[in-house]
Amino acid sequence: MPLASLTRYRIGGPAERFARFASPLELAGGLEPLEGSTYRVLGWGANVLVSDRGVREPIISLSGEFDHLQISADVVDAGGAAGLPALVGDARREGRVGWDFLEAVPGTVGGGLRMNAGSAEIGLWDRVVWAEAMTPSGDRVRIQPDEAAPGYRSIQVPEQWVFIGARFAAPLGEPIAVNALHAERRRLKVEAQVYELPSCGSIWKNPGPPHGSAWEVVDRVGMRGAVRGGAQITEKHSNFIANVGDATAADVIGLMAETRRRVLEAEGIELEPEIRLWGFEPEDLSSVGAAP
Ligand SMILES: Cc1cc2nc3c(=O)[nH]c(=O)nc-3n(C[C@H](O)[C@H](O)[C@H](O)COP(=O)(O)OP(=O)(O)OC[C@H]3O[C@@H](n4cnc5c(N)ncnc54)[C@H](O)[C@@H]3O)c2cc1C
Repeated sequence: MPLASLTRYRIGGPAERFARFASPLELAGGLEPLEGSTYRVLGWGANVLVSDRGVREPIISLSGEFDHLQISADVVDAGGAAGLPALVGDARREGRVGWDFLEAVPGTVGGGLRMNAGSAEIGLWDRVVWAEAMTPSGDRVRIQPDEAAPGYRSIQVPEQWVFIGARFAAPLGEPIAVNALHAERRRLKVEAQVYELPSCGSIWKNPGPPHGSAWEVVDRVGMRGAVRGGAQITEKHSNFIANVGDATAADVIGLMAETRRRVLEAEGIELEPEIRLWGFEPEDLSSVGAAP
């Protein structure tokens, strides 16, 4: 199964095994033979770089019954395959407070929960009432926000648990004010970040004080605009690497490794990738500071 077309980057080799599950029953049946082995869950691939040789572990994805959204009194119920843009769009249209932080963030509810997607200050788990995951043995588990221990683009929930849905807080607000907040957030994000080319969003996690944002660090070592093959650290935003034309995963990794090497040498900072890297050799992973 070719994976490039299933990722936002449009990069990467095939999956040896790929399966889509449309209901909890199907998913439980699909996970059963995988228990004890490593598999990966793919959402929209808006935060995943797949290696050029592809991925050996089985890949699963959600569809059908998992793609639902329902707004009621003061909550939204969403399936793991529902789009974050649909969730945010519904919240905006219905005048629900507290969702503008997620404007223009591509991906699914499942991917957003795994990444604790959001802004520097707010993550998706700040809006979770409970989330539901399926364990490798097919059990359905409800997780409260404090159990997930959410942090900056991270949670403490086993990697093999598949998020199948969640209930989010969505209190009613003043519709005109809500709409204005969303519009402004979208305007700022689209103005500053890269939507016109395939990318995975921010490449590096922000190193935090006193070093500043990741883009500032990348700028200080002169990597803004750097090109390798079909990949470029964009002129518009130096924490984005875009596929500017038939980029390979090796092109992206090459730019990341060069950036990280320069930053380490010049400032002693160990940059850590925000994007997820699938199917890479241990030496590639260590060259960009990713866990094996
Ligand atoms: C232009 C652009 C702007 C972006 N801006 C932001 C931003 O402002 N803030 C931000 O946080 N991110 C941002 N991102 C990154 C991306 O949108 C988020 O990380 C998003 O949550 C990815 O969702 P996904 O469904 O595409 O997940 P994927 O990329 O498919 O997967 C990401 C991770 O989640 C796991 N996963 C996916 N689905 C599930 C599931 N159902 N259960 C368990 N694990 C799962 C995967 O295994 C993987 O580890 C941006 C990306 C782009 C391209």
